[in-house]
Amino acid sequence: MADYYVQQSSECDYLFKVLLIGNSGVGKSCMLMRFSENQFTNHFYNTIGVDFKIKVFQIDRSTVKLQIWDTAGQDRFRTITSSYYRGAQGIIIVFDVTDRESFNQIRQWMQEIDKFAAEQVNKILVGNKIDSSQRRVSTDEAEALAKSYNISYIETSAKTNINIENCFSLITRQIIQRVGKPKQ
Ligand code: GDP
Ligand code: MG
Repeated sequence: MADYYVQQSSECDYLFKVLLIGNSGVGKSCMLMRFSENQFTNHFYNTIGVDFKIKVFQIDRSTVKLQIWDTAGQDRFRTITSSYYRGAQGIIIVFDVTDRESFNQIRQWMQEIDKFAAEQVNKILVGNKIDSSQRRVSTDEAEALAKSYNISYIETSAKTNINIENCFSLITRQIIQRVGKPKQ
């Protein structure tokens, strides 16, 4: 296993492991489905333990292969925590703009990340479900929270496909900026 995910392979310039983190129900699996297969469902995806998808895409003339990990985050899967975080270069922390509690939990997720992830990991905060009229968290307060952690904030809808690609591009660009150009 070691650090295969940081190696470069012949068919891509970069290979990164990125995690989706956040309360159950915020739309992590739908974001991943939208990004990897351009599909959406109104049903919950039954993520058991962890699941990952591979997506290869072009960014600023580089070919990037993202290995995106998704977890159900239930307590009974807590034992997966350290292997889930191991080798991750980017973390997408998601809350649901219609669910205040999922926003309040961000602090706990950040504490978990501090405990298990590498110090230099890139993080972004995402407010999902902006298609809904039931918003309970304003853009301003989410931006303020992101700023307090010195990370970027972006709002998305997996349902209507708003900013989903931008969200994955944003984290990827930040990782590339940190790790530098691939060796020729
Ligand atoms: P997860 O537990 O974080 O993986 O959440 P899911 O991806 O399973 O989504 C939970 C529920 O939220 C499902 O009923 C989805 O259809 C719904 N959902 C996910 N993304 C959106 C979105 O962008 N807008 C709306 N309105 N509903 C969404
Ligand atoms: Mg899920």
